[in-house]
Amino acid sequence: MTNSPKIPFIDLVGPHVELQEELVAAFQEALKNAAFIGGPMVEGLEHEFAAFCDARFCVGVGSGTDALRFALSAAGVKEGDAVITVPNTFIATTEAITQVGAHPEFVDVDESTSTMDPEKLRTFVEMDCDRCTDGRLISKRTGLRVIAIIPVHLYGHPADMDPIMELAERYRLIVIEDACQAHGAEYFSTRNNRWMKAGSIGRAAAFSFYPGKNLGACGEAGAITTKDEEIARKCRMIRDHGQAKKYYHDVEGYNGRLDAIQAAFLRIKLKQLPRWNQGRRDRAQVYGNQLTKLHGSAVVPLAAPWARAVYHMYVIRVEDRDALIAKLAADNIGAGIHYPIPLHLQKAYAHLGYKEGDFPISERLAKEIVSLPMYPTLTDVQQSRVCQAVKQMLADRLSHQTPSAVLVS
Ligand SMILES: *Cc1c(COP(=O)(O)O)cnc(C)c1O
Repeated sequence: MTNSPKIPFIDLVGPHVELQEELVAAFQEALKNAAFIGGPMVEGLEHEFAAFCDARFCVGVGSGTDALRFALSAAGVKEGDAVITVPNTFIATTEAITQVGAHPEFVDVDESTSTMDPEKLRTFVEMDCDRCTDGRLISKRTGLRVIAIIPVHLYGHPADMDPIMELAERYRLIVIEDACQAHGAEYFSTRNNRWMKAGSIGRAAAFSFYPGKNLGACGEAGAITTKDEEIARKCRMIRDHGQAKKYYHDVEGYNGRLDAIQAAFLRIKLKQLPRWNQGRRDRAQVYGNQLTKLHGSAVVPLAAPWARAVYHMYVIRVEDRDALIAKLAADNIGAGIHYPIPLHLQKAYAHLGYKEGDFPISERLAKEIVSLPMYPTLTDVQQSRVCQAVKQMLADRLSHQTPSAVLVS
């Protein structure tokens, strides 16, 4: 054990101390006007976040899960459809699919980016689906019509969108980006010959403003971005009980609106987001420099050449993950595992009939990953302590593995 001060896994306090005056003023303003639901604060945030994402429209909602669910619904995904996604994501991705009445179909991820492997997507649509006379795809596994894809920009690193969009166009699939961890991440699209923001590539995208995200509210919040006016219009209805006009309900919807107070907080924080994201990139570089000196015993995340990641998480891979978690805990350093069980092996999805071995990359990653502390306010001294702990764990393991070498020396 150690007497060193705690290095928390995440710092939710620092940013709020820094912005306290502005946040409190926004709260007082909201109390004065009793403007709690909808109104200019929500519209202001929607306008500013759409601009931040290079998207035409933004619709504020209650959470990232709402955003995924409403986007799928507005894009026309319904009862009995199948939606392709990856097994190594937060369960909200597949909950949204199920909650619109559709079924998840998984394809494995690319080992170096932990995001959807476009080649595996191609194999799935070309080998594991039948094509109807109208060109639609039917999953051989479930017999269901495959209608959409949700690539997940995991840990703030974009999925390889060009080949995903190409396949989607060829097979007329809707693409909804799960950008809940990727506020401000960018993808270099060779097809469009420019950098594109997460949230501006697919038909629509879902963002979460859960407090721990790169842009977080002081409570629950989320948003949909889209270039499609019709999707934006439908999402506005769905979040508000399916009404376009008060008490005139065109469809059944949800209570999925964004609080005005949260919108006000988010507008204040959005101004800091470019600086915060740069801070995360700088911190990632510091980790990378120190950890790559460990001669390959730990695999550090490398952004693909076509990616500008925003490091929502900094996830390394080691063979003996549990030993590293224990070492970090002993050294008073917070850590996480995102995520320990791939979705196809979760109890909640036993009925889907997947088994161990179906998605080997996701399964291997789940056994080897450790998320290290990552936030803009992390200091060099803190990062050195984290890296020292990783180094010591690897050295200890090596000496246990080869006791004879230790005896000789
Ligand atoms: C956080 C997150 C969500 C859900 O967002 P909530 O705001 O918590 O509902 C969905 N997908 C991914 C990948 C996430 O990280």
